[in-house]
Amino acid sequence: MASRPDGAVCLLGAPFDSTASFRPGSRFGPGAIREASYSLETFSPVQIADLEDCSFMDKGDLELPHGDPVPALDIIEEEVHDILCRGKTPFLLGGEHLISLGAIRAVAKVHPELMVIHLDAHADLREDYLGQRLSHATVMKRVYDLLGHDSIRQIGIRSCTRQEHGIITDLLSSPEQIALKAGTKPCYLTCDLDILDPSVLPGTGTPEPGGLMFHELMSILISLISGLSIVGLDVVELAPRLDPTSSSAVVAAKVVRECLIALGSKNTIHAL
Ligand code: MN
Ligand code: MN
Repeated sequence: MASRPDGAVCLLGAPFDSTASFRPGSRFGPGAIREASYSLETFSPVQIADLEDCSFMDKGDLELPHGDPVPALDIIEEEVHDILCRGKTPFLLGGEHLISLGAIRAVAKVHPELMVIHLDAHADLREDYLGQRLSHATVMKRVYDLLGHDSIRQIGIRSCTRQEHGIITDLLSSPEQIALKAGTKPCYLTCDLDILDPSVLPGTGTPEPGGLMFHELMSILISLISGLSIVGLDVVELAPRLDPTSSSAVVAAKVVRECLIALGSKNTIHAL
C-alpha cells in the first residue's frame, strides 16, 4: 500500500501476542498485512473507489516488550493519543486482541461518549482468563468496565461461556441496530479476524467454525464505516505463520484495504 507522509488515517502496527492462549504468532500480523498488500490492486470494484485517492499514512510498527502486557498497553495508549492529538484517525494492525484496550483507552479520553463496535467469533468478556485480567479473552470485559454496558455492541459472536452468554444477549446487534443506537456518537471499530470462517482465514490464533464468508464481513464493515462516526479502528488476530498458503494475510490485507477506502470515500463526501 502506498501511503502519504501526512494522511488523515494513520496505520500503526502493534506486534504483540504474549497472552495468546492457544496458538501464538499474531505479532507477525502487521508485517504480513503490509507484504500481502502489494499483491492487491488499489482499486476496489465493490466500492468503485481507489486506495490511491484515500489519505492515509503508515507509522510502521511500535516496539513493544514481549511478556508483561501492562507496559505494552501503555505504549499503545500513548502513541494512539499522539495520533489523535494530530487530528488523525488511528487504524491499528494487530497483534492479538488485547492491543485494542490500549487504543480504546486513548480514544475514550478524547471522546468520552465513545461507543465500541466489536466484531469477533468470541465474546472476549471473561472477568479473567487463567488468572490473568489482561488477556485477549478478557479485552472486551476491560472495555466494558471502562465504558459501561450501553457503550458496547457486538457482531458475529458464536463462542462464549455461560456467564458471557448472559451479557451478550443484550449486546449482539445488526449494523442497522448499531447505526440507530450510535447516531452521531464517536465510534471505535474493532475487528477480530476470527469472525471469518476458518475456511476463509485459517491463519488465526483461535479459529472458530461456523463463521462469516468474506463478502459478508465486507458488507458489514462498509455499512458500519459509512454509517457511523468512526474515530478509531483496528484489525487484529492475523497469525500469518499458521497458514502455510499465506492466503490469510491476503484476506487480512484486503479487509484493511476496503476499510481504508470506505474511510477515504467518506472523507471525500464530507469534504464536499
Ligand atoms: Mn477477540
Ligand atoms: Mn476471536
